[in-house]
Amino acid sequence: MSTAYDYTYAQASKIIIPAHKLMLIDGRFVESASGKNFTTINPATEEVIATVAEGGEEDVNRAVAAARRAFEGPWRTMRASERGHILQRWVELIRKHADEIAEIESLDAGKPIAGVLRQDLPAAIDTLTYYAGWADKILGDVVPTRDDALTYTMREPVGVVAAIVPWNFPLMIGMWKLAPALACGCTVVMKPAELTSLSALRIGELALEAGLPPGVLNIVPGPGRVVGDALVNHPDVDKVTFTGSPGVGRGIMKGAAGNFKRISLELGGKSANVIFDDADVASASRAAASGIFFNAGQVCSAGSRVLAQESVYDEVVERITQRAKSLRMGDLLNRQTSLGPVISERQMKSILNYVDIGQQEGATLVTGGERVGERGYFISPAVFADVKHEMKISQEEIFGPVVSVIKFKDEDDAIRIANGTVFSLAAGAWSRDLGRLQRFAKRAKAGTVWLNTYGYTDVRLPWGGAGDSGLGREHGTAALENFTEPKAVWLNLAG
Ligand code: NAD
Repeated sequence: MSTAYDYTYAQASKIIIPAHKLMLIDGRFVESASGKNFTTINPATEEVIATVAEGGEEDVNRAVAAARRAFEGPWRTMRASERGHILQRWVELIRKHADEIAEIESLDAGKPIAGVLRQDLPAAIDTLTYYAGWADKILGDVVPTRDDALTYTMREPVGVVAAIVPWNFPLMIGMWKLAPALACGCTVVMKPAELTSLSALRIGELALEAGLPPGVLNIVPGPGRVVGDALVNHPDVDKVTFTGSPGVGRGIMKGAAGNFKRISLELGGKSANVIFDDADVASASRAAASGIFFNAGQVCSAGSRVLAQESVYDEVVERITQRAKSLRMGDLLNRQTSLGPVISERQMKSILNYVDIGQQEGATLVTGGERVGERGYFISPAVFADVKHEMKISQEEIFGPVVSVIKFKDEDDAIRIANGTVFSLAAGAWSRDLGRLQRFAKRAKAGTVWLNTYGYTDVRLPWGGAGDSGLGREHGTAALENFTEPKAVWLNLAG
């Protein structure tokens, strides 16, 4: 095992996380109705960070009732510009406490701090800043219909929103949901993933400090099957915005049918990153390695399938392998650490099982794929060569630091393989031929296509997919449509 694993530069945490965290309901931090708690651990050390009040159905009912009161009351009737100002004050407070929030996220979600400071935190801040600016710019239209009527449209908030968030980017994906929902005038009950509740609860404290009225934002941590299920089936929730696995997404679609809730679902991926033989192979391979190993591969748009054209295949495998071996595992707060653990023991076992399956299927494990150390859920980054398109490791989402490198002949072959899964979240292509890149962009079955780059997101661009990758889009103006309903108004002018 040549991947560096190093605790010698461990830095002491500069913050103190309270040993017990409460849930946020109706503007107050409270214990759960049942008095139950659960523990949240640091996946790099398996040490308990804090206990968290564990929500149940009664807490969900109280949170939804508070959200409804706030929706009918202060939040909806407040001037839109004032809503925007409150969100601006919130983002200022998040900036002020940026180091602390980054450290909480790093320890609770097992993310190297350097990545949190480069990606998660700036993206969350950018998202809130962007939608705070939208609060007073959600317009209707005057639509000419007939001479004797004034006809116009308004966009109204959908109401009470349930935001169900995964553990891989708790802060960033949480904000992708909170910021547009609140800017549109909705109120929210948020359920963080049970493995990662801490950053949400901290920014919840700052939301109150910023002046968010009671009940506008409620945060109920707890198990998905209890808290998530209660929200999805609640008759007074108007919309569910969810990011997570396709299986849970399917259940949400069914549950939402009860009162015809609006839903948006951001689900899985098995994205192809295609390297043609006329590409800058060194850059492409470097980006392909980052595209799968960033966040230990726990990224819905991870480039988990690298497709390399025959004549450059061996070089691509070799270069990605070298990058995999150079990644540095270890203390999350050490800024040199580039690869963290995976989130949990369960996830670690599932990933290691896929490594076994890949070998049984006949793929060549070139490097990695082993547990590293005895504490924490570290896995050495794995590179599989000689992967066939039909293999399980090429079709199923592993959600870990495991890449399948697949050989292709020509453009048509590349497209056939790239499009040949149930997912359609993202795809990448590398070439010096702009015509080829544009053809790829048109033919790729994906909500986002990266050309000569990989992995960027920006809140101004739509984000999402179809099939097992989900339903609807987040970000940009698409999110404003998710959280509002159009209304047509007729004013009779004929007297
Ligand atoms: P998950 O579906 O198990 O959990 C996601 C959230 O749903 C958690 O908060 C969980 O508690 C909750 N949940 C679980 N069961 C529920 C139920 N019955 N009803 C309501 N809520 C329930 O997924 P995960 O393991 O947390 O995250 C990994 C998955 O998420 C991967 O498949 C990944 O591809 C996907 N993901 C997608 C995107 C995207 O933007 N498309 C982003 C991140 C993660």
